[in-house]
Amino acid sequence: MRLVFLGPPGAGKGTVAAVLKDRLGIPHISTGDLFRDAVSRKTDLGREVEGILARGELVPDELTVALVRERLKAPDAGNGYILDGFPRTIAQAEALEAFSPPEKVVNFVIDDEEVVKRLSGRRVCPSTGRVYHVIYNPPKVEGKDDETGEDLVIRPDDRPEAIRHRLEVYRTQTAPLITYYGKKSRLVDIPADRSIEEVVHLVEQAVRGL
Ligand code: ADP
Ligand code: AMP
Repeated sequence: MRLVFLGPPGAGKGTVAAVLKDRLGIPHISTGDLFRDAVSRKTDLGREVEGILARGELVPDELTVALVRERLKAPDAGNGYILDGFPRTIAQAEALEAFSPPEKVVNFVIDDEEVVKRLSGRRVCPSTGRVYHVIYNPPKVEGKDDETGEDLVIRPDDRPEAIRHRLEVYRTQTAPLITYYGKKSRLVDIPADRSIEEVVHLVEQAVRGL
């Protein structure tokens, strides 16, 4: 099952993917996580993209497409994938069509006000990538990862200026993909402003229909 999760930052794509990857038996591939991992390991790629991520801009298409193309060659992606945060531009979508066209694109529909609330309260575990929210999805012990006990952090791009910029980038560069995939009849809209359990359920129903 080849799935793309599309939607603004903070819509809940990663949260839903983390639950559904095991149920569907396909990997959750988040380009944001791949870039953050490169930044924390201080690889050449990490050094190149660190500033771009912190400012909330997009990594150039060529680099991003090459990263995804390589990742999809791994054996765990043999039965499909959940792509979260890719494609983010028409050029990336066209590249993906050429090497692994998605069967369904789940569009997380949510307004800016709710997204800002979600991003402002997001906390992440830097080593595992697990995602929490101070109010909507708190850890068992405040500020600590449920499994490893590590300190949770605020992503540099969840600062208010970066959030505003990322929403603008989404509107101008990524939202046109809604029309792009709509025309290909592969788009399914999900109301993402419900509880985590409800959104997981709605997405699962929509993709099981494949
Ligand atoms: P995305 O991957 O789309 O950027 P995340 O999955 O990281 O979004 O979610 C953004 C924030 O919102 C996180 O803090 C997460 O815990 C919280 N969140 C995710 N889904 C919901 C939901 N349905 N209701 C309330 N909060 C949510
Ligand atoms: P995310 O975790 O999906 O919010 O992504 C975090 C950041 O990683 C984005 O703001 C971009 O800087 C970068 N990024 C992630 N996916 C892509 C992509 N498909 N194209 C370009 N940049 C990306």
